Amino acid sequence: MRRADVVKTFHEYNHLLFGGRLQEPDIMIRRMRHDLARWYEPDGAHPAGLLIINPAMKHPWTWRSTLCHEMIHIATPDDEAHGAIFTAECNRVGGLIGLEPCDVSDSWNWPGHHAVVVPLDGTVFGWENDED
Ligand SMILES: [Zn+2]
Repeated sequence: MRRADVVKTFHEYNHLLFGGRLQEPDIMIRRMRHDLARWYEPDGAHPAGLLIINPAMKHPWTWRSTLCHEMIHIATPDDEAHGAIFTAECNRVGGLIGLEPCDVSDSWNWPGHHAVVVPLDGTVFGWENDED
């Protein structure tokens, strides 16, 4: 994907799923061996945080779903990682896009292999896991 696509989709999801309340972080596209994405909380170098997306995700719904997961992290800065606050936010957003609720044991994988993503026009798309 191109960085511009990720930034555009960040703003779409922010508007549709988070009421526009998320501050745009620095967004970087970089290959990583083990992670689809990484989120770094705000610090001096990145006042709104740093989000790194792995371009190895070729299917647009894969990176969109991953972006949506990372945006849950951005929305829940008080959560240790995938705890109760994070999980509650997964379920709030999941409720908007028709996902079954998750719990703290599986929210690390949210939205999982049944991801549903919502582009700006409001259309709901399913996504089958087709990654390598
Ligand atoms: Zn996570």
